[in-house]
Amino acid sequence: MNRRKFVQTSLAAAVATALPVSQSYAKVLGASSMVEADINAFTGDGADVTLKRAAVQELGDSLRGNLLLPGHEAYEEARRVLNASIDKHPALIVQPKGVADVKDAVDFARESNLLVAVKCGGHNVVGKSTCDGGMMIDLSTLRSVRVDPKAKIATVSGGSWLGDMDHDTMAFGLVTTAGTVSHTGVAGLTLGGGFGRVGRRFGLAVDNVLGVDIVTADGQFLRANAEENQDLYWGVRGGGGNFGVVTSFDFQLHEMDREVIGGTVTFPFSEAKSVLNFFADYAANAPDELYIDGGITADPKQGSMVFLHICYSGPKNMASKIVDPIRNAGTPVFDDIKSMDYVALQASGDVSDPRANGSYMKSGFTSHVTPEVIDAILYGFEEHPDRSMTVVYQHAGGAIGRVASDATAFAHRHVNHDTLFLMDWPVENDPAEHIKWVREYWKSVEPHTRGIYANDLVDESQQKVHRNYAGNYERLLGLKNKYDPTNLFRLNANIVPTV
Ligand SMILES: Cc1cc2nc3c(=O)[nH]c(=O)nc-3n(C[C@H](O)[C@H](O)[C@H](O)COP(=O)(O)OP(=O)(O)OC[C@H]3O[C@@H](n4cnc5c(N)ncnc54)[C@H](O)[C@@H]3O)c2cc1C
Repeated sequence: MNRRKFVQTSLAAAVATALPVSQSYAKVLGASSMVEADINAFTGDGADVTLKRAAVQELGDSLRGNLLLPGHEAYEEARRVLNASIDKHPALIVQPKGVADVKDAVDFARESNLLVAVKCGGHNVVGKSTCDGGMMIDLSTLRSVRVDPKAKIATVSGGSWLGDMDHDTMAFGLVTTAGTVSHTGVAGLTLGGGFGRVGRRFGLAVDNVLGVDIVTADGQFLRANAEENQDLYWGVRGGGGNFGVVTSFDFQLHEMDREVIGGTVTFPFSEAKSVLNFFADYAANAPDELYIDGGITADPKQGSMVFLHICYSGPKNMASKIVDPIRNAGTPVFDDIKSMDYVALQASGDVSDPRANGSYMKSGFTSHVTPEVIDAILYGFEEHPDRSMTVVYQHAGGAIGRVASDATAFAHRHVNHDTLFLMDWPVENDPAEHIKWVREYWKSVEPHTRGIYANDLVDESQQKVHRNYAGNYERLLGLKNKYDPTNLFRLNANIVPTV
């Protein structure tokens, strides 16, 4: 070995032994374990931006979690979201292991003027938690739940799934409102509202948020609760991901017996009109302890049917009085309503390969399921050999409606149902025809709705998104101007800042 080569080798060894102090956690995972070249990326406004190799390497070195780059299988896994027809390629993906990593990612993105997507469960139907050419902050590495059974509070990390929370809280006979599919993200669901099987008893997920830890666009770590940063505390309860990355939530928990009565009963499609009319009356007069969804569904294999799905968590001695009429709403074809574990019921809507299908949806709130809207739904409904279609009225009302519309940023307190048009198809299909069909079908039902769940906004105009915040828009705009004046967090039900 000549002297020059020896010095080079020694230096490399010295660097290698020195680096682990700063790199002992962080991994850059790309085509190699180093950032090899400058990266072409996009700003939030869609302009080109070049990320310097050394700066990206420095970001990678600063993290306790991973920095994923194209060319690595972990990048391929992380960039995916639930809707398989979304195929976006972020320029880089940060998987934070803690608040420090989130701060570093946000600082880097802001200083580079980079487009940012924040992913928790990846359920946003139009793929707002991923992006082309920007930074994805993938919080799948930030999943944990800590329950304080005495105080009845759960502290839940910002990347956790609903199933994580239900599992851990129910172990103590405690619950808070979570949605109906257990692989949905706690953060995405909660920040926009959060409907679920116990929402009529305990309010929306947002109504149970006691506080959040959040990294705002300027990289500051803030606590927002009833004492600190009250303005932000109000805003995150319905304002979505507009103000920063929530790294942790504190949820109020409630005592509940984990054995509930739950499941689905289906009836022939020929009985759809009478079953849905029964549903409309029954849901409108239900006690808070009864959650009942009603709808119609068509599947290429199973054909069309009308269904009712319930969760009853009230006194056991009232159960048959409340549940029997539901079973007898028509001629049951299938009935799995039974006494069951709440956590199992919460996972009963899961699909085994959640990312196998393309999907699209339309939705709108409604106070009453009228005979006119039932006619509109039945008139437009049709089977198709290549797609599944479900129209479902998700039950709201109860405690959700007993909160003032300006008490939190979630304004739509009048609702008794969220009308959901859900469609999916094998991912190899061209989505265009399916999406066109749903949009047409939706036109006949939309006039019967008022307001849209912010978590389900798909292709509405920016003006409509703003209007949808209703009486809370001006206050939310003030918060956006204060906490995110450059609109770093724009891939959401976006409030466009005006400063
Ligand atoms: C199968 C299915 C079932 C559903 N069921 C229900 C239901 O029962 N009740 C209900 O209310 N809704 C339901 N939804 C809608 C659901 O609330 C939204 O899709 C929600 O956005 C999902 O959250 P996520 O974290 O999984 O999504 P993601 O796609 O990961 O995130 C959505 C958005 O949330 C924001 N975000 C995510 N994490 C953070 C964070 N830590 N900090 C700041 N911002 C963040 C970002 O803006 C992101 O674009 C359902 C959706 C699907 C697809």
